[in-house]
Amino acid sequence: MGWYVDFRCPYCNYEETGIGVGRGRRSFPYLALFCCDNCKSVGSTWVQQDQPPRCGVCYHEQVTLLKEDVRRISCPKCGEPATFSRGEGEWE
Ligand SMILES: [Zn+2]
Ligand SMILES: [Zn+2]
Repeated sequence: MGWYVDFRCPYCNYEETGIGVGRGRRSFPYLALFCCDNCKSVGSTWVQQDQPPRCGVCYHEQVTLLKEDVRRISCPKCGEPATFSRGEGEWE
């Protein structure tokens, strides 16, 4: 079961809404939040047990996975403090 989060940066107005995170009945794969230094975006990507996670936007391999309950990170675009908040709804 998973849920959605919204990301918003109040400084540069970068936002991503409705990012799905969580997992199904199995522990892998699961949808994890990432921050990509390559294309400077945040989002979620499927994490497989035996493969490095890739950026869901540019497919770069070296993404930083974020904790699923993360609240604050430095905005990948401008470096200022930005926040994640829980969005509406859940998925199975
Ligand atoms: Zn920003
Ligand atoms: Zn990327």
